[in-house]
Amino acid sequence: MEILKQRILSDGVELGTEILKVDSFLNHQIDIELIRQIGQEFARRFQKENITKILTIESSGIAVACATSFCLGDVPVIFAKKEKASSMTDEYYCAEVKSFTKGTISMVRVNKKFLHSEDTILIIDDFLAHGEAASGLINIVKQAGARLAGVAIVIEKEFQGGGEKIKEQGIRLESLAVVCSMQEGKIRFR
Ligand code: 5GP
Repeated sequence: MEILKQRILSDGVELGTEILKVDSFLNHQIDIELIRQIGQEFARRFQKENITKILTIESSGIAVACATSFCLGDVPVIFAKKEKASSMTDEYYCAEVKSFTKGTISMVRVNKKFLHSEDTILIIDDFLAHGEAASGLINIVKQAGARLAGVAIVIEKEFQGGGEKIKEQGIRLESLAVVCSMQEGKIRFR
C-alpha cells in the first residue's frame, strides 16, 4: 500500500535495526484518514470471505480492526486482553504470547462467549515481527473451532520471520507494508 509505505518513510523512526516507531500515526496518535484507508484495503482483500468477526489484540490493533469492520458490514471486533481483571469471571480461551517490544510473556484471553465454531474470523494486528501475537490469536481461533479466513497486518517486518511461520501453516497472510530491512538508517520494502 503505497500511501502507507510513504508515511513510514516520512514519519517512521527506526530504533536500531529491529524496532520501528510509528507513534505519530498508528501506535499513539492515530491518523484517522490513513486508518480508514487501511480498513478499506483489508476489507477489499477479504470481502469474499464472509467474515463474521474480527479478532485483534489490545491495544494498537483495535482502531484498525474497527476501520475494517465498517467496510465489512460492521461485524463485531473482539480484542484479546493482555491482563486478567477481577471482572473476568467467565470462561476464557487462553494463549501464551511473548511480547516482542517488552520482552515479557503474558497470557492473552478471549471470553468463550464471543467466539463460536460457526464464526469465520479475520485476525488483524498492527505489526508482525516474530509472529508470537499472531500465533496466540491463531491458537485461540483453533480452540474455538472457528474458521480462520486469514491474518491481516499493517506492517510486517519480514526479516523477523513471523510471516513464514504463518504461511507455512497454510494460513493466508496479507501485509500492507513489508519491511525487508532496517539498516544504516534506511527502511527498505519488499
Ligand atoms: P510479534 O508477536 O510478531 O513478535 O510482534 C508483534 C507485536 O509486537 C505487535 O502486536 C506489536 O504490538 C509489537 N511490535 C512488534 N514489532 C514492533 C515494532 O517494530 N514497532 C512497534 N511499535 N510494535 C511492534
